[in-house]
Amino acid sequence: MYTGASLEGAVKLNNNHCDIAINWSGGLHHAKKFEASGFCYVNDIVIAILELLKYHARVLYIDIDVHHGDGVQEAFYLTDRVMTVSFHKYGNFFFPGTGDMYEIGAESGRYYSVNVPLKEGIDDGSYFQVFKPVISSVMEFYQPTAIVLQCGADSLAGDRLGCFSLSTKGHGECVKFVKDLNVPTLVVGGGGYTLRNVARCWTYETSLLVDEQISNELPYTEYLEFFAPDFTLHPEVVTRQENANSKQYMEAIVKYVCDNLRMCQHSPSVQMNDIPPDAIEDDDKTKKEDDPDVRISQELEDKMIEPKNEFYDGDKDQDKEDMET
Ligand SMILES: [Zn+2]
Repeated sequence: MYTGASLEGAVKLNNNHCDIAINWSGGLHHAKKFEASGFCYVNDIVIAILELLKYHARVLYIDIDVHHGDGVQEAFYLTDRVMTVSFHKYGNFFFPGTGDMYEIGAESGRYYSVNVPLKEGIDDGSYFQVFKPVISSVMEFYQPTAIVLQCGADSLAGDRLGCFSLSTKGHGECVKFVKDLNVPTLVVGGGGYTLRNVARCWTYETSLLVDEQISNELPYTEYLEFFAPDFTLHPEVVTRQENANSKQYMEAIVKYVCDNLRMCQHSPSVQMNDIPPDAIEDDDKTKKEDDPDVRISQELEDKMIEPKNEFYDGDKDQDKEDMET
């Protein structure tokens, strides 16, 4: 189900039926080709990116889950068609144990995997101090034509598994930053283990993505009691850990990442190829074609033209006679 939704989002983006597609049930970034991992069975992100690659020369993947986006990185480690950028907690055997900044990709994919390993307790200010310059440099050097953003909510303060100190507003600021890049984007969910905060976070981020202001006071629903005692969208952030990321450490990571980006070829191109068919039928497209009152589009008309050099069965068909004689 969640994979179908990510795939449909990619198809809609490919056909220009939307510029932002959201699937909060997706984002299962740990699943590998032959192995389930970290609560992830099918890697919907990889499947959606493969679909985007039918139409897009370069796809950028951004991951703000507290865990390293290892499954997606592994899938595209050897190619320059996808750049993966993951911000995550690294060290002390934190799951999945990969995502050191020296993992930069290999072969044609060298310099197209970017890792930003962080220490526990990072707050909004420090996070944005790396997020903004890294993503700005990536955009400058890579110039993607589509983006997939994984918004794992386990990077929020108070998560049962995570150890960062981001507020919903800080997390959302990253989403807003990506939205403002004005590139077709598939937004997916991911981790998040303190459920009330996951609901808060993705509700707020939906409002940002659709440009809608929503009240800090939560409306009455049967789940309201879960949001006690404040019943608000943005409760005060209670930090459990000191921020272990010094200013110098952050500056060093940003410098390392930006130096590497300078090594990669600017916006690599791709050979012309036949576009494989869409993995699933786009509803909007079918509807349009079926409506008899609507004049058919130029695109469809062009597709219906039969090239003169093609064989056909008809009055002028020469093949059959040849066969008989
Ligand atoms: Zn996670």
